[in-house]
Amino acid sequence: MRVLLVEDDEPVAESLRRGLQRYRFAVEWVSTGHAALAHEDPYDVVLLDLGLPDTDGLDVCKALRARGEVPIIVISARGDETDRVVGLETGADDYVSKPFGVREVIARIRTVMRRVQPRTAVDSGPDRYGPRLTVDREAARVRLDGVEVALAPEEYDLLAFLTEEPGALMSREQIMEAVRDGNRFGPAKTLDVHVAALRRKLTGAITIEAVREVGFRLEVVRESSASAPEQDGSGA
Ligand code: CA
Repeated sequence: MRVLLVEDDEPVAESLRRGLQRYRFAVEWVSTGHAALAHEDPYDVVLLDLGLPDTDGLDVCKALRARGEVPIIVISARGDETDRVVGLETGADDYVSKPFGVREVIARIRTVMRRVQPRTAVDSGPDRYGPRLTVDREAARVRLDGVEVALAPEEYDLLAFLTEEPGALMSREQIMEAVRDGNRFGPAKTLDVHVAALRRKLTGAITIEAVREVGFRLEVVRESSASAPEQDGSGA
């Protein structure tokens, strides 16, 4: 996933860039509105600071929106409600206020991408996690050792969410917010039931660790590390 980050505050931009890269986002960073509008490489989502040195971020937002459907998430130090409303009216898809954590930003990106996925074709082909597991996000299919695994819709959503950031600790709130139709997901207890089902169905391919009073962390089991230490996705 490619992110265009428009932010003039260097420490903020740098930490956000590092954080996003850790989760395998490709980040193009520009520090002015002019550079944002001049940027021609394709990207999947824009993170747009409103307080830019050369132009009003809202004008940049408007101009980007006039060009197409790329999702825009406004980031601002001005945490007031007017900004939020104006940002959304100007065509932004979502809004985060400083200070924010990288996980919050990622959760927003994910939510926004899920919303726009039908209109923007994102990466195709299944994602590979270790030697045994693949998740085909377009077909919503999961395979273990090449054999399709039957998952309930909630189980699939949960797996698709947790595999977007293997190793990251995701809170229950983030999970409930990110999965499709969070309300239908039912009471918090149900989440544990789905986690248990995934553990059972995908034993040996992933582990899901419960972190008390916080949430869950998925890890990919990489058995083949002895023969090939960096076997990520290029599998022949
Ligand atoms: Ca700024």
